[in-house]
Amino acid sequence: MGFISLIIILGTLIASVIAQQQCVPYTSNYTFTTGYPPIWVTPGAETFTTPEFQQLNKSLNWAMVPNIPPNKLVNGALDLSTYSASDPNCWWSFKNCVNPKAPGLNPDISFCPEPGSWGLTYDDGPNCSHTEFYDFLKGQNQRATMYFIGSNVADWTNEAKRAYADGHQICVHTWSHPYMTTLTNDQVLAELYYTRKAIKYVIGVTPRCWRPPFGDVDDRVRAIAQQLGMSTDIWNLDSNDWKMIPAGTSTPAQVDSIFEGFVQMGKNGTFATSGVITLQHELNNGTMSKAQQWYPQIKGAFKHLVPVASCMNITHPYAETDITYPSFGELVGSGSTSGTGTNNPSSSGGSAPNSTHKSSSVSMTSCISLISTVAIMLIAQLSSTLF
Ligand SMILES: [Zn+2]
Repeated sequence: MGFISLIIILGTLIASVIAQQQCVPYTSNYTFTTGYPPIWVTPGAETFTTPEFQQLNKSLNWAMVPNIPPNKLVNGALDLSTYSASDPNCWWSFKNCVNPKAPGLNPDISFCPEPGSWGLTYDDGPNCSHTEFYDFLKGQNQRATMYFIGSNVADWTNEAKRAYADGHQICVHTWSHPYMTTLTNDQVLAELYYTRKAIKYVIGVTPRCWRPPFGDVDDRVRAIAQQLGMSTDIWNLDSNDWKMIPAGTSTPAQVDSIFEGFVQMGKNGTFATSGVITLQHELNNGTMSKAQQWYPQIKGAFKHLVPVASCMNITHPYAETDITYPSFGELVGSGSTSGTGTNNPSSSGGSAPNSTHKSSSVSMTSCISLISTVAIMLIAQLSSTLF
């Protein structure tokens, strides 16, 4: 074996190790040791006593927040047994209520009004093992809405930056993923505020949208989110991918049958007059694989697959008003279908986030992915030579 070959093999081996390290905690330039709740901990007294939080708390008009007592958990599940059948608090977990009953609250965003369209969303990211999945979406010129958990943003800063750089819409999915209606007002406020702060810190934008974990929201929680300038985003099609093993007990075949049902609904005109917003997850490699597996069939059965902001024609999804996002028409292109390739994010307006805030992490992860593939091929070749 020549010296140059040895150098190449060593180099690719090192690159392979680097690629594998994407799921190993890494050091970044971002620090969350001060100014944030502890990672994956529901905020408590150590957060509420800070001047920053106290000032935030004072900035809210609490008279606009309904006086609804926090709900209770029994054996880890919401206790619905004592709740009034009239659903006075528009508690989604009770009967999927999305039209608030308290005065002054905006309805939840729960479906895409564009006929035959599929609002594509992924919850619970960023995920350390995202590379293949994000490469796939990028290869399809596909944007989605990502509901990010604040603690995951803190742990996986590079992945968070890549999602934004790829043109995905970034929204809040709380700091520690609790049942929000079971929390105190201060806890609700902190779960939303510190996730939004983390996204601003790492990615540079301030989301104007959030999705409650498990869909658990009522008018009290909605009122706090609305005062932070955030829409409450639900869904009207649940893929149940979150139930799939290893996170849950459903088999992959059971999840397949649900996706198959969605494809049939797309084809048979169920959504001919208005579209859907789905619930899918970046939770683990299984859910990300299912998303890729069913993508071609869903794309074939529905007219357009678009992020929620574009579904709703929200062209300013962030508090930073100089950042614009493509409207539905801009994203899909007039008279085209999502399968034609005319919805290339990079061609949909110079002010789109991915064209003005390109992150070096994209080329870095793509590069590592490529080098890693070459490394595996070389290692396989070397092994067959040696053994
Ligand atoms: Zn979630």
